[in-house]
Amino acid sequence: MTRLVVTGTDTGIGKTIFSAALTGALQASYWKPVQAGLEEETDSELVVRLSGRPILPEAYRLKMPASPHLAAEAEGIEISPISLLMPQVEGSLVIEGAGGLMVPLNRRALYLDVMAGWGLPVVLCARTALGTINHSLLSLQALRNVGCDVLGVAFVGDPEPEVEETIAQLGQTRRLGRLPMLDEITPDALQTAFAENFDLSDFGGRQPMTPSQFDAAHLWHPYTNVIKPGPTHLVRSAEGVRLTLEDGTQMIDGMSSWWSAIHGYRHPVIEKAVKDQLDTLPHVMFGGLTHEPATRLGQQLLDMTQSSLTRIFYCDSGSVSVEVAMKMAVQYQFSTGHPERTQFVTIRSGYHGDTWKAMSVCDPVTGMHHLFQGALSPQFFVPTPPVRFGEPWETNPAKNGLAELARVLETEKTIAALILEPVVQGAGGMYFYHPEYLNQARKLCDEAGVLLIFDEIATGFGRSAMLFATGHTAIQPDILCLGKAVTGGTMSFAVTMANDRVAEGIGNGEPGVFMHGPTFMGNPLACAAASASLSLLEDGSWRKRVYDIEMQMRSELAPAKDLPGVAHVRTLGAIGVIEMDHIVSADQAHPISKDLGVWLRPFGRNIYCMPPFVTSPEDLSKITHAMVQLAKVL
Ligand code: PMP
Repeated sequence: MTRLVVTGTDTGIGKTIFSAALTGALQASYWKPVQAGLEEETDSELVVRLSGRPILPEAYRLKMPASPHLAAEAEGIEISPISLLMPQVEGSLVIEGAGGLMVPLNRRALYLDVMAGWGLPVVLCARTALGTINHSLLSLQALRNVGCDVLGVAFVGDPEPEVEETIAQLGQTRRLGRLPMLDEITPDALQTAFAENFDLSDFGGRQPMTPSQFDAAHLWHPYTNVIKPGPTHLVRSAEGVRLTLEDGTQMIDGMSSWWSAIHGYRHPVIEKAVKDQLDTLPHVMFGGLTHEPATRLGQQLLDMTQSSLTRIFYCDSGSVSVEVAMKMAVQYQFSTGHPERTQFVTIRSGYHGDTWKAMSVCDPVTGMHHLFQGALSPQFFVPTPPVRFGEPWETNPAKNGLAELARVLETEKTIAALILEPVVQGAGGMYFYHPEYLNQARKLCDEAGVLLIFDEIATGFGRSAMLFATGHTAIQPDILCLGKAVTGGTMSFAVTMANDRVAEGIGNGEPGVFMHGPTFMGNPLACAAASASLSLLEDGSWRKRVYDIEMQMRSELAPAKDLPGVAHVRTLGAIGVIEMDHIVSADQAHPISKDLGVWLRPFGRNIYCMPPFVTSPEDLSKITHAMVQLAKVL
C-alpha cells in the first residue's frame, strides 16, 4: 500500500496528467483536496477519465480559477487546514497538491504547511522548460525545510537531459523519469507511457506483471518447485476437447484435465445447469438444511452405483473423500466393538491423494509422499496384484498376491479396512490388474472382519470401459470413493458412499453421529454440475464411444511396442499407456506435444492419455501420434 503526495514546481506543468498516470499504475485512489476553478473538466474528473480509479471528494470546490485563498474569499469562506486532514481510505492513495508549494490556503497557512502535517513522501513534478532549474531547486529546498521526504523529481515534457541531470545533481535527489508529451492522451497511451518511462517500485508500488510473469513469480503449481518453476502455458479458454492458449495456439486435451473432463469442456448441459443453479441457490450450509440438487444427485448415484451403497456423503475433493472413507472405517470399527482397529492395509503402487491419511496409504516407495514417511500413520502394504488385466488368472495364492494379503489380514488385528483402487492403479503407475484379485480379497476381508474400500476417484464414470471399475468384478465394496469426473471436470467435488452395514454400525454405536462435516458439503453448484454430468451418461452412449476409443488406441499405440526404451504398451477403456523403461520429463515433453497440437503430461515412466469420451477419431489419432513421437524422443 502506497500513499504519497504529488506536488509541482508551478501551475500548468502537467502535474494532473502525471497524477492520473501514477494513480492508474498504483491502482490507487486519488484526492485533490482543494480545487480552484470549476469550468470544463476538473482535475478529479480528468483523473477518473484517464485512470478509471476512484476519487475522494474535494474538501473545497471553488469556482474561481485563482489562488485558493482568493477563490475562497470570493465565495465568502476561509479554507481551514484542519478540514484537510488525511482521509480514511483503503489501499493506495495519490494526493495532488496545488501548483506550487507557497500557495496560500488562507491568510496564515501555506499549502506546504498542510503537506508537512501529512508526513507523506512527496513527488515533485517539474516541466523540462526554461526556468525549471530555479523553480525545482527552490521547491526541493522548501520541502526539506519542513521535513518532507522527497522521493524525487518526475519531469513532464520534451527531453532536456542536461536540465534534468542538473536538477537531480544540485537538488541531491533522484530523477524518477520523464512523462513525454503525448499526441493524444488516452488512458491506454498514458499507462503505456508511464510504464515505459518510470519504475513503479520507486513509488513504493509493484511493476505490473503479465499473467505469465506473475504466475512464475508467485503461484505454486501441483508438484512443482516454486522457486524454480518449469514452463506453464497460459490457457485462455476451453471448448470441446480443445484448450486455447493466450497466443491462440490450440491443443487437444489428451488428459481430460487430470481425467475429469469426460464430456469435454463447456458442455452446454452442464453449463446451463450451473448457470441456472447460480441464479437460485449457489450455496447453503448442509448442516440442518438440504436442497433439491443434492437429493436429485443422490438418486442418480444410487441408480448408477451398486444397490448396496445407499448412504451418500458429499465431499470437497478426491483426497477428502478418501479421508472420509478411512474415518468411516475407523468409526465403524470403534462403534462395533473394535477400537483397536485403526490401521489400514493396501496394495503397493497405489495412490489415494495428498492429505495425511490418504498419503499414508499411497505407495511409500514409488509414491510421491515417501519423504513424509516419518510423519505418516504406519500402515500395512502388500504386493501389487501381479496378474495383469487380460492375462489368465493364476490360482496359486503364492503367485497371485493373495497369500500375502491373507497373512496380513489374519495376523494384524489392528486393521480397520483394505483400501485400494480397483483394477486400475492410476497415479501410482497406470497399472491394470486382474479383477479376480478383488473377488478373492472381498472374501478375505469378510473373514477377517475388515471393511473393503474402493477408491474409484480415477476410474469412476466410464473410464475403464465399465461405468465403475467395480463392474469388472463380481463383488461390491463397503465404501466407495468417487471424484474427478463426477462433475464432468467442472469443479471440485467428490462423494463417499457406504453400505447399510457401515451406516448402521456407526449410527447404532457411540457417539452415533459421523464426525465429519465440511463447510461446503453438498454445495448446490457442484451438485447441479454433477447431476448434469451424470445425466449425460444415462443413455449409455458413452459405452460405444469408450469402446471405440480403446480399439483405436490399441491399434495406434501398438507400433510403440517395438521402440527402444519402451517397456510396455497397454490400453483399457479410455486409458492408453506407453510405459518406458526410464523416467520421462514432463517439462521436456511439453514443447514437443504442443508443437503436435496435443496436451499431454507424462509422469514417472508413463506417457499416457485419458482423453475426453467425446474425442473424435481424427483428434484421437493426433493424441496417439504425439504419444508415439514422445516415446521416440524422451
Ligand atoms: N484417489 C485417486 C485414485 C486419485 O487418482 C486421486 C487424484 N489423482 C485422488 C484420490 C485424489 O483426488 P484429488 O486430487 O481430487 O484430491
